Formats: sequence, structure tokens, C-alpha cells
Amino acid sequence: MDKIELLQDLIDKSHRIVFFGGAGVSTESNIPDFRSSDGVYSHQLGRHFTAEQLVSRTMFERYPEDFFDFYKKYLIYPEAKPNAAHTYLATLEKTGKLKAVVTQNIDSLHEMAGSQKIFKLHGSADRNYCLGCQRFYDLTAFLALEGPVPHCLDCGKVVKPDVTLYEESLDMDVFSQAAQAIRQADLLIIGGTSLVVYPAASLVNYFSGTNMVLINKTSIPQDSQATLVIEGKIGEVFSKLRQ
Ligand code: NAD
Repeated sequence: MDKIELLQDLIDKSHRIVFFGGAGVSTESNIPDFRSSDGVYSHQLGRHFTAEQLVSRTMFERYPEDFFDFYKKYLIYPEAKPNAAHTYLATLEKTGKLKAVVTQNIDSLHEMAGSQKIFKLHGSADRNYCLGCQRFYDLTAFLALEGPVPHCLDCGKVVKPDVTLYEESLDMDVFSQAAQAIRQADLLIIGGTSLVVYPAASLVNYFSGTNMVLINKTSIPQDSQATLVIEGKIGEVFSKLRQ
């Protein structure tokens, strides 16, 4: 059996599948990840800040112009469309086999593809709130706010994307529900993530089922824990499976 047949076989005989993914799931939709050789971290970011510093709470508070410049340039892709990975997962959920998608991504491509049960560990670029009056702005309304730092149309305070920045803690409700879904899974498929961002990466430790599959363009240390490792593009891999 080749690796695709093995994956198909594991999916066929599993009943509670959970998918856990990261930025690599959206690269085939032309949203760059962080750590690939052509990822965001590979760009010359200007000034003297690293990308990690640029998406930190300190940067947001002390240098909001640099923060929003980086955020809008490298993390927001309003034109992006779901790729074969997103659509396959949405279809698998409809068959009843896939119980949840756990994602570190802040884009909304899983929702656009039709997935229903999604745990977004790092929030969503689609949600933005005024830090003064809490007025809500969707992505379109947020991008329409003028100036280098977006200010609320009602009260004039800064509007912050509802995404988890470095130095901020995760929404523990979302984290616990994701952990619960992974704990109950019989097959965990992990794809498109370097698994280096914590505490998200620690979710893997909640898995107690039999089969763990890793699908990544490059190898990662957790490969040794997996039943099956497929090196390749996740959209291409999923499009070879029975739909
Ligand atoms: P990462 O950049 O650290 O790692 C991405 C991994 O995916 C790498 O191992 C890479 O080899 C692999 N990869 C890239 N394209 C792939 C493909 N087509 N198929 C299979 N594998 C592929 O990403 P991460 O682990 O998610 O951590 C980065 C953090 O940055 C996350 O917290 C995430 O919130 C954020 N981020 C999100 C987006 C987004 O929302 N789309 C984009 C960039 C970064």
C-alpha cells in the first residue's frame, strides 16, 4: 500500500477524526506561512524588529503604527479562497467522521469551505473590537478605517483585531474544547504546522487514540510519534483521497 492508500484506509476505519492544522493549510490559497523558506519570516521586515516582535502585545501597545503596518501587509488576505485541504475537511465533516477542525490560523478559509465545528486557537482576523466601547468591526469594516492605526468611528479608541498576539494568553474555553475533541479522537490528522508555537502545539499531548498522521511539506520533530508521515502539500494529498 502506498501512503495515500494507507491514509484512506485509516480514515475509512476511523469514526472520530480530528484535524489539527496551521499556516501550511492556507499556503495553497496563497497566504504565506511564517516558517517556510518563502514564509513571512524570510522577508526583510525593515527596521530592527523580528516578525515575532511585530505580532506581540508590546509592539501593539508601544509601536502601533509598525504593528498595523506589518499586520495588514502580511497577515490579512481578504481575497483568499479555500483550497482543496479546506474543502476536503468540510466534506469529511458532512459524512459524520470528522468531529472538529482545530486551527492556529486566523483566516476564515475553513468557514468559507463549509466546516462547522472549528476551534480557532488564535482568534480570527474577521473579528475586530474597539478597545474603548467594544464596537465590532468585521474585516471589511476594519480595513475601511483610515489612517495607519485604526480608530473607532464611535469613540475614537484603537480597534484591535481579535487575534492572539505573542505575550497574550489563549482563550482557554476554546483551548479546553479543542483538547476535549482531541482526547476523544480515534484518528488525529496534523497538517501544515511546524508545531513550535505553544501552548497550541501541546494539544498533541491530549491525543490518546491509536493513529496519528502528520502531513507536512517538511519534517518536524513530532514525526517520530506518528503512525504515518506524509511529506507533501496538504491540498494535493487530500485531493488524492476519495471525496
Ligand atoms: P509555521 O509557519 O510555523 O509552519 C508552517 C508549516 O507548514 C511548516 O512546517 C511548513 O513546512 C508547512 N507547510 C507549508 N505549506 C504547506 C502545505 N501546502 N502543505 C503541508 N505543509 C505545509 O505555521 P504554524 O505552525 O501554524 O505557526 C505559525 C503561527 O502563525 C500560528 O500561530 C498561526 O496563527 C500564525 N499564522 C497564521 C496564518 C493564517 O491564518 N493563514 C498565516 C501565517 C501565520
